[in-house]
Amino acid sequence: LKQSSNPEICRPLAEAVIEIALEFNRKFGRKPAFMEVCGSHTMSLARTGVKQVLKNEVNLISGPGCPVCVTDQRSIDAMIALAEGENRIICTFGDMMRVPGSAKTLLDSKIAGKDIRVLYSPVDAVRVAEENPDKEVIFLGVGFETTIPILTLMIGEAEKRMIGNFSIWMTTKLVEPVLRFLLDAGEVNLDGFLLPGHVSIVLGEESYQYLVDEYQISGVITGFETAELLSGIYKSIELALSGQAAISNNHPAIVSKTGNQVIHQWLDKYLTNCDEAWRGIGVIPNSGLDLKPEYDQFNAKKRFTVDVGEPRKTKCRCGEVIRGLIAPNECPLFGKACHPINPVGPCMVSAEGSCAAYYQYMRES
Ligand code: SF4
Repeated sequence: LKQSSNPEICRPLAEAVIEIALEFNRKFGRKPAFMEVCGSHTMSLARTGVKQVLKNEVNLISGPGCPVCVTDQRSIDAMIALAEGENRIICTFGDMMRVPGSAKTLLDSKIAGKDIRVLYSPVDAVRVAEENPDKEVIFLGVGFETTIPILTLMIGEAEKRMIGNFSIWMTTKLVEPVLRFLLDAGEVNLDGFLLPGHVSIVLGEESYQYLVDEYQISGVITGFETAELLSGIYKSIELALSGQAAISNNHPAIVSKTGNQVIHQWLDKYLTNCDEAWRGIGVIPNSGLDLKPEYDQFNAKKRFTVDVGEPRKTKCRCGEVIRGLIAPNECPLFGKACHPINPVGPCMVSAEGSCAAYYQYMRES
């Protein structure tokens, strides 16, 4: 185990996980399998060495949790097309710059002279708009439930300051619809989910009850430190062994039963459910949030007409990686044509991508 702040706790915990996993194996004749659906978990499991230490006893599968990775190629193409217009400033998170669109990346457009800016705090996009009243400032809004509240803060700020040249291209994603998609598709055999601690602060423990009631599968809300990951996996195996599906909150100090109601009210004020296209999956009904019609003035999809057509097909197998069907090193391009310096797909670009995590921490040689 690496970067373990508390080896005297983590080592025995890892041994306990291996022991209970072997018990599962004796009972069911296979390794227990769990999916994490959060890019931070994907990176933490690899960086801490938890995934490597448990690889012979526990099947830890990465799912669609990295916001950059699941962003549909058409949204990248749309932003590149928007950047071509006169008097435009495109703002985005850093990881989005190198995600390949159909023909090029946002970074390519920036190098070609388009005004595309990386912001460390998205609320800065409102300031950029204020400082450039003669230009249209468009922010590419990606993210799950942890990031979406920040996007609504931007709208609130633009509204308060009466800024008319600012808009967001919303392509946000929600956890529940994609978990339902995975379970309905039945492509991967799972014994449970490791549920993200930070998303769960917003959603709350009870929001996952459908997993138990409708799918009879467990979920364990888990933090990101080595000991938290190990105890979350231990609890997941314990539940799988018991045969009783349940939601377990391994992060009770910060995750409540019902989530953060202030954030929920804030989201309800500005946003409404919409169908969203996921890279490698396609459109999942009601799997995203878009601005309510009364905020059309801040909705880039309403303010600008962009026709980008169908996404270009590539040999990248991110779609299968995102759905947990293959491990990154099963992609023929992994570590050859595709590596962090020359990423072919978003899973290698993103700091939370499965392929990047695998390349950085789990590559052999
Ligand atoms: Fe796509 Fe590269 Fe990952 Fe292959 S290794 S799935 S090409 S990002």
